[in-house]
Amino acid sequence: MIGPQGCGKGTHSMKLTEKFNWKYIPVGELLRKNIRKGTKIGKKAEEYVEDGELVPNELVSKMLEKKLEKIDKGFILDGFPRNLEQAKILDKFAKIDKVVYIDIPKEESIKRLSNRRQCRKCGEIYNLLYKKPEKKGICDKCGGELYQREDDKPEAIKERLDTFEKETKPVIEYYRKKGILEKVDGVGSIEEVNKRIERRLKK
Ligand code: AMP
Repeated sequence: MIGPQGCGKGTHSMKLTEKFNWKYIPVGELLRKNIRKGTKIGKKAEEYVEDGELVPNELVSKMLEKKLEKIDKGFILDGFPRNLEQAKILDKFAKIDKVVYIDIPKEESIKRLSNRRQCRKCGEIYNLLYKKPEKKGICDKCGGELYQREDDKPEAIKERLDTFEKETKPVIEYYRKKGILEKVDGVGSIEEVNKRIERRLKK
């Protein structure tokens, strides 16, 4: 699953993995988990993640390769690969059947990210515009505290969108040339976009 920040990669990946009993692998979330736990990987990744920069390829690829070794069914990768080098590394240890590119305009990304909040405890994602929690600042699911990710603040959002343009757009071209890219319009309700994605996957 590929697309600019805030396009809904996480939301749609989760819906699909539930429906088809696949495994969901959110690479950014794996990194954040490592940071929270203070692991070796987490310590090395922390500064990059907080500043909205890409973590070095070798570090993130090794983490992912290890994770995939434990998985024996279909999976959706969310947030990997994010540059051409990662796409080529991935070819060495995984077979990718389809790449869904969820396209949204830059202004929409900024609007969605600056209103995003996440639960500190269970990781559930909210949006103050589209998916408000019932009680302000509190997770509906587990009662945990909602917070704004450091990299969802204005400076880091800009950095992440620039990185997407420069580094991730070439990845989209790479998969287009391989003939496995499905581009989907990401503007619309979650249900509408979900239907578009499923239609493309059934093709
Ligand atoms: P995300 O939750 O997908 O927005 O990712 C959050 C942050 O994790 C990114 O801004 C990067 O700092 C880091 N990250 C996630 N995926 C990758 C990747 N494939 N390569 C390098 N850094 C990554």
